[in-house]
Amino acid sequence: SKIKQVEFVKSSSRPRECPVHQLPEFAFLGRSNVGKSSLINSLLRKKQLALTSKKPGKTQLINHFLVNKSWYIVDLPGYGFANAPEAARMDWSSFTKGYFLNRQTLVSVLLLIDGSVPPQKIDLDCANWLGRNNIPMTFVFTKCDKGKPAKGKRPDENVRNFQELLRDSYKQQPPWIMTSSATGLGRDELLLHMSQLRNY
Ligand code: GDP
Repeated sequence: SKIKQVEFVKSSSRPRECPVHQLPEFAFLGRSNVGKSSLINSLLRKKQLALTSKKPGKTQLINHFLVNKSWYIVDLPGYGFANAPEAARMDWSSFTKGYFLNRQTLVSVLLLIDGSVPPQKIDLDCANWLGRNNIPMTFVFTKCDKGKPAKGKRPDENVRNFQELLRDSYKQQPPWIMTSSATGLGRDELLLHMSQLRNY
């Protein structure tokens, strides 16, 4: 499951511009600021690649990275920008939903959820939407290095509460992994998980 080589392939501004290939791909999705760039960079380790800006208002892009010439990491635009106008949010949904519903090579969506905060409605909505549309997904909790904040709960409680709130949404609970880009927690587990999914 080691990452030996990675190359940036393409930034696409709409789903139908995505590269055409037959290789398995994993899409990284999450709220803006969830720690997506940090996690992708931690997976790629020293093979860091400049990820394009994901600031609100900037062009939203789907970035494809080819790993070991055999599978893809796909960096999707973040959702839920705190100050984005409603129009920009709607734009995100039609844009990215098109990708999920039509991408034949998608093995699993890695839905990133901040494990240092209680369950957020926007993440629950996203998980519910993916579930309703039968899109395979994995819950990847980020920032699980953070201890108990002054107000709030520990990561393991946040993780359990998130899953509890979705319990009736799935026939089968999606697999889940706790990670931290700061400590490397869950990195190997996530790589192993993706390699297992590729071999099915
Ligand atoms: P993105 O917008 O989802 O790409 O998020 P970034 O990777 O840019 O991270 C957003 C913020 O969260 C930054 O301030 C990071 O330093 C912080 N962050 C990211 N990953 C972790 C983590 O594993 N632990 C902690 N404590 N903070 C993190």
